[in-house]
Amino acid sequence: MSAVIDAAVQAFAAVQSWIFLTIVEPLLFRFDGAGVMEEAYDGIEFFLLGLVQIAMLYAILRPLEAWRPAERWTHRRDVGVDVLYTFLHRLGLFSLGLFFVLDPAVDALAGHLRLEGIAGFNLDDLWPGVTSIPLVAFALYLLVLDLANYWIHRGQHRLRWWWALHSLHHSQRQMSLWADDRNHLLDDLVRDGLFASIAVVIGVQPGQFVLLLIATRSVETLQHANLRLSFGRWGERLLASPRFHRRHHAIGDGHEGAYRGCNFAVLFPLWDVLFGTANFEPGYPATGIRDQLDSDGRAGRDYGRGFWAQQWLGLRRLVGR
Ligand SMILES: [Zn+2]
Ligand SMILES: [Zn+2]
Repeated sequence: MSAVIDAAVQAFAAVQSWIFLTIVEPLLFRFDGAGVMEEAYDGIEFFLLGLVQIAMLYAILRPLEAWRPAERWTHRRDVGVDVLYTFLHRLGLFSLGLFFVLDPAVDALAGHLRLEGIAGFNLDDLWPGVTSIPLVAFALYLLVLDLANYWIHRGQHRLRWWWALHSLHHSQRQMSLWADDRNHLLDDLVRDGLFASIAVVIGVQPGQFVLLLIATRSVETLQHANLRLSFGRWGERLLASPRFHRRHHAIGDGHEGAYRGCNFAVLFPLWDVLFGTANFEPGYPATGIRDQLDSDGRAGRDYGRGFWAQQWLGLRRLVGR
């Protein structure tokens, strides 16, 4: 078994250096980018990990979707654009790029504040030595960042301008393993920017950040899959399942009521339980937004079918059209 893993790791490293030497390095020399060689090399690693992750999730989830779908469809027309979103976002170095931009900026700011006699925040301050125990540090960061994700997501539903963008994510009536990254690019920028800033501020190291992203996104892919799958009475309360997140996308429950929705947690439903937004009602309801439905003969709101239409209509909603 370890021989197989070794071979895989070696193959991965070989592909990484091949891409670097034949494509990225010549480009960087050409465009005066010799200063970011190291970041570019790490970037390729992230890109390849993204590819491997998508391939593995597809290999596992696609047969499960075919076997036990939450919903049977007569066509898969609307899934195609979500595949595009997934490749764009997961391989587009979006969050990682932001992290590498923000990391030195926050370091510089922290250095400046220290000169002024103001100390920065780090988990080590609360619990000395904790960040040198990798597994504990990882678990703590995961928890803190997931809490941040919960409140970011509440904001996406609560603030009018943010919902104008986030509603694109909710407009998918055919949820599938590809649906997670169906977002407005501006929404991605704000959300990923906030997420990476919080990660930098609490002292997450770049290597850990990549692992945190991979863990979070794997669960996100799973919970959007068209799967008749719940984790059972207690499991549902420990980790967000496809059924739990489907309720968040349900017409009516997902974006209406006192909190403009329910089940906002990305990983841990604990936050929804604590802040009164959990809904563990059984069933696999239809997904979408109420204003997409026809009302008294008139067609509902159109969120667009193709990528550019969706992005454009999102901008129009943002300015109140
Ligand atoms: Zn949402
Ligand atoms: Zn979702």
